[in-house]
Amino acid sequence: MYQLIRNEAVAHSHIMEYASALVDGIVPRLTGSPNLKKANEWTRDQFAAMGCKNAHLEDWGEFGMGWQQLAASIRMTSPDTAVFIAQAGPWSPSTNGPLTAAATWVDLKEEKDFDKYKGKLAGKIVLLGEMREVKPVEKSLSTRLEESDLKRIAGYPTRHEDGNKGWLEFLKKIEFREKAGQFLAAEHVAAVVVPSRDGRNEGGSGGTVFDDSGADFGWLAYRREHANPLPIAVMAIENYGRVYRLLKANVAVQLEMNLDTKFTGDHEHGFDTIAEIPGTDPNLKDEVVMVGGHLDSWASGTGATDNGAGTVVAMEVMRILNALQVKPRRTIRVGLWTGEEQGLFGSYGYVKQHFGFIPRSTDPAELKVTEYDRKPAGPIQLLPEFQKISAYFNVDNGGGKIRGIYLQENATEAPIFEQWMDPLKDLGVSTISLRNTGGTDHEAFDAIGIPGFQFIQDGLDYGSRTHHSNMDVYERLIPEDLAQAAAVEATFVFNAAMRDQMLPRKPLPHPELEEPRKAPLKGVMPGAMEAEKESKEEKQK
Ligand SMILES: [Zn+2]
Repeated sequence: MYQLIRNEAVAHSHIMEYASALVDGIVPRLTGSPNLKKANEWTRDQFAAMGCKNAHLEDWGEFGMGWQQLAASIRMTSPDTAVFIAQAGPWSPSTNGPLTAAATWVDLKEEKDFDKYKGKLAGKIVLLGEMREVKPVEKSLSTRLEESDLKRIAGYPTRHEDGNKGWLEFLKKIEFREKAGQFLAAEHVAAVVVPSRDGRNEGGSGGTVFDDSGADFGWLAYRREHANPLPIAVMAIENYGRVYRLLKANVAVQLEMNLDTKFTGDHEHGFDTIAEIPGTDPNLKDEVVMVGGHLDSWASGTGATDNGAGTVVAMEVMRILNALQVKPRRTIRVGLWTGEEQGLFGSYGYVKQHFGFIPRSTDPAELKVTEYDRKPAGPIQLLPEFQKISAYFNVDNGGGKIRGIYLQENATEAPIFEQWMDPLKDLGVSTISLRNTGGTDHEAFDAIGIPGFQFIQDGLDYGSRTHHSNMDVYERLIPEDLAQAAAVEATFVFNAAMRDQMLPRKPLPHPELEEPRKAPLKGVMPGAMEAEKESKEEKQK
């Protein structure tokens, strides 16, 4: 089987046909948009055509607004003409035709900065955001994992980082952005332009524009009640820099901005594409092994590496296994999720409907973000299907080939995966890391204790150039890497479907017990009075 899978994946690869159909034919795939629904239907039909059973869509619930970018341009009309590289921020309203206005830069970093601009911005196009330093690109934008990188990834971190700090800082930032939007709208600003952020190795330059919720007036811009209050666009950093420097030098700049965007509904639902190769072992066929990735993308590129790659790899895995007419003992099920980019909605929704859920914190600070981004509070609630799922395998770290796998701190898998990977070593698959990796759909499974895995992949130019950018396009995909990934993932899925037992699990998560476990031990320091006793004694005094 190892050789047959490899041969089908390499010699008979059809992965780039799926890739072109998806990333040239059905784009962009922003959640809530008509195009994403089309992609859901096309993937469902492709799964049926390759021989899968039960190909269907599942509704994971209401998402928010449907939106499409029809046209976006910004040019300078005075003191000189210049054509700029720009895209609409996701869910930006339209400018209703070309809008010509004086540009102005505002220095808004906190709420008290609003005062100095009151009454001064009406009718203007506002540049919002400090100009950043643009360094030359001296390192390669596309890199592969070297032996030293793999060694580092394989090492278990013994210092426990508090991940929450960065998250809270981020929340503060986007909360301010939303307030700034409300202020600028109340001041009757015509439109807003923000500079593109940078990428790894100075990749956020040279025409690349990163266009995600960072180019919006807030994290929830897809919901009507948090909608962008003004047209907003993100511009290439060098173009932003020119206007910024002219304005700083007190030169009057006129911009013409045309954002043509279309809203297609306020209460659009999201769907997952699901299909199966039914199991054949009378005792095991009700058990399931899952494979997948997210189908949705951002809107400025074509979502080739994020996550067209993971989507077509999962499609090719199912095609390979169908073409080989495998008779798996367990059922093999593919899931293509949507709403990943806004909060893993599709995968969490599926897991909640089928397997179980951990209730989230209702702390007021947490309520600012969507359900699955809130702190798990517990206790866990499980559904009967929870007992029947062996594992979920995910690809969503770009289009680079697979170099190993993250165990999500489930050490029991290591000897099993080592065996599975041994015949894949010549394909560059060698590394097992106990570490957790986050940010994508395997988390939804892992969060309730289902073995859920993301592979270690070569980064290529994912972090530097393609992730959420206008340059996330077909040309960034490497056929050989995708074929390798399909061969490796198909091997994992097949092995999991044929194994005598389901994959071993971690203990069930109990977030409600975390706080007491982290609380400092009592009575450790000799001679120290207990805080309570101490304060009582104080009072008596
Ligand atoms: Zn992604």
